[in-house]
Amino acid sequence: NFVPPIRSAGGNTSSMINSRSSGKCDDAMEDSTRKCLEMLCGPDGELPEKLRNLEPRLIEHVSNEIMDKDPNVRWDDIAGLEHAKKCVTEMVIWPLLRPDIFRGCRSPGRGLLLFGPPGTGKTMIGKAIAGEAQATFFYISASSLTSKWIGEGEKLVRALFGVASCRQPAVIFVDEIDSLLSQRKSDGEHESSRRLKTQFLIEMEGFDSGNEQILLVGATNRPQELDEAARRRLTKRLYIPLPSSEARAWIVRNLLEKDGLFKLSEEDIIAICKLTEGYSGSDMKNLVKDASMGPLREALSQGIEITKLRKEDMRPVILKDFENALQEVRPSVSLNEMGTYEEWNRQFGSLS
Ligand code: ADP
Repeated sequence: NFVPPIRSAGGNTSSMINSRSSGKCDDAMEDSTRKCLEMLCGPDGELPEKLRNLEPRLIEHVSNEIMDKDPNVRWDDIAGLEHAKKCVTEMVIWPLLRPDIFRGCRSPGRGLLLFGPPGTGKTMIGKAIAGEAQATFFYISASSLTSKWIGEGEKLVRALFGVASCRQPAVIFVDEIDSLLSQRKSDGEHESSRRLKTQFLIEMEGFDSGNEQILLVGATNRPQELDEAARRRLTKRLYIPLPSSEARAWIVRNLLEKDGLFKLSEEDIIAICKLTEGYSGSDMKNLVKDASMGPLREALSQGIEITKLRKEDMRPVILKDFENALQEVRPSVSLNEMGTYEEWNRQFGSLS
């Protein structure tokens, strides 16, 4: 087990980390792990209390795999969702940028739930929050906690919140949060997943009551699975619906323009929007990908070899390519499911 560094007269961080205990762990500790711990040490050269007694490899995993140093998404990359962007800006970004103003009556909630069909931009919003608020972004999928980290999820959760508190302001994004905070149980529930859930709620409680600049963003496609305790802690609950017709047009234009392939007319775009009612943002991305293969497939079918093909030999992407792609890429969300989201939104969503 990791024993925290003990301040020794005149010792530097590195020697303190080395001087922990007589355990084998010290000698065996990889350079990368040591470096990672050093970076988390405070100005006094000691590991913050929250990280003591945690296994270094878990701290390293959080720092290297879960912490995203450059989330690289901005509001302008996200089509539509004006309502969500406005709420998130007020509720999250301003408080992270100006904690001095957002105190007392204005103190913000620390838990935000983004719910809605898959592929509608929930993860993008989480990353954009971190990007816009210059916060550190931590991404974890709750199902990996229960499946990949069997028996260790609890410790990983402690490491996650511990590292986040050293990297404030921080946004912790928990994908598929329903699998962690679900109301399904109790007989069938594993002891370990119950402990995991308790640990998670304890950590949330901890930063909720303190002055920490940490925001938890949970995302789910199954909000109806969340229990009352989870809903209570995720005070703001925003519905992230399927993209509007304008948002779908924006996604098509934006993706093709990025690659210099946009040559569609306004009428073509209108036709594509009509044909893609019910498609999610991620369905639209897949559609554009498939449609953009049209000119390439056609050139190759005319006998040009792929190795000899010049970009000028390919015609622009046209409406027909989209019509063909629509046969391949089907909408991934059913009308039925939409009804469930809308109902839950009416009951529990933050409508303003
Ligand atoms: P979710 O977290 O809701 O399941 P993501 O945010 O991971 O969905 O979106 C998956 C992909 O779909 C994104 O990487 C992006 O390419 C595309 N996408 C989804 N929604 C939007 C949107 N509103 N604007 C632009 N792209 C989107």
